[in-house]
Amino acid sequence: MQAFFAALQQIRMECLEQPDPRPHTDPELSALLAYYADHFVLPLPAGHRFPMEKYRRLRDGLATCYPDVRLAEAPRATDAALTLVHDRAYVEAVADGTLAPALLREIGFPWSKAMAERARYSVGATLAACTAAHAEGIAANLAGGTHHAEAGKGGGFCVFNDVAVAARVLQAQAQRDAPLQVAIVDLDVHQGNGTAQIFRSDPSVFTLSLHGEHNFPFRKASSDLDVALPDGCGDDPYLAALDQALEAMAQRFSAEFVLYLAGADPHEGDRLGRLKLTFEGLAERDRRVFEWAWQRRIPLVVTMAGGYGREIDTTLQVQMNTFGAALACHRQWQNQTR
Ligand SMILES: [Zn+2]
Repeated sequence: MQAFFAALQQIRMECLEQPDPRPHTDPELSALLAYYADHFVLPLPAGHRFPMEKYRRLRDGLATCYPDVRLAEAPRATDAALTLVHDRAYVEAVADGTLAPALLREIGFPWSKAMAERARYSVGATLAACTAAHAEGIAANLAGGTHHAEAGKGGGFCVFNDVAVAARVLQAQAQRDAPLQVAIVDLDVHQGNGTAQIFRSDPSVFTLSLHGEHNFPFRKASSDLDVALPDGCGDDPYLAALDQALEAMAQRFSAEFVLYLAGADPHEGDRLGRLKLTFEGLAERDRRVFEWAWQRRIPLVVTMAGGYGREIDTTLQVQMNTFGAALACHRQWQNQTR
């Protein structure tokens, strides 16, 4: 492990192909930076169950309702960044469309150039948000949270694992002897099995997953802390479990950066979720995570992860509420630095 981090220190790489739009410093213009990659439209066959339009609609909703959210185009993540986590052969097979059919089936999207590029830009969005969060305390990716992807394969609509790549890039950029301590707080309703797998023997990245016990993936991996919730779990037991988990993490790990997967799929209106959280419960969930990080002055990046509302508006409402809570957190950081 020590040798690995020594090697990371050597990496002086540009992880992003385009310059990251630097966060502005004028407090009068201050706004929460949120990166999008939905301009790559992934062609899906008619009737495909993935709600691809949710990304564009979230961007439109934010542009309309939240003038304090500054929307920025995601940069493209490079091979150098992706291969900090993913096998080179896998990255190349995704790029040139030579993934084995079985591996493609596990991902759940047909291959296209746009599919490969979109996955890459979605990682870039999380990387750019990390840079912004370093400067401003909190920033967002309108997509991301693709936590089922492992080093050598994707799965469950996830091609690359953006938060895993972000953790490695943050550590590489920290340029110091001891690795940056990164906490991944995964509150998508599905277990973050890919992330758990990638960091299974790595004490510098803490993986916390609160998920539905009977939901995909049916063979779970071992996170540093897994909390499996029963079908039908509602707001109160969920929030109690979250408080306990955040407290347990704080006792076991000194996080210096938080990557948060704010999945909308624990909502009662989700067709895949199996839990019964309300809009209010999920907004409170987000508020508690942001508050936990703010109290400790730990920078945080929030990604949207999953959301499969029977009505797509349900998913969008949960995500808009997440941005409402993120804006409140951003204002706390801004007020502190004035
Ligand atoms: Zn999910």
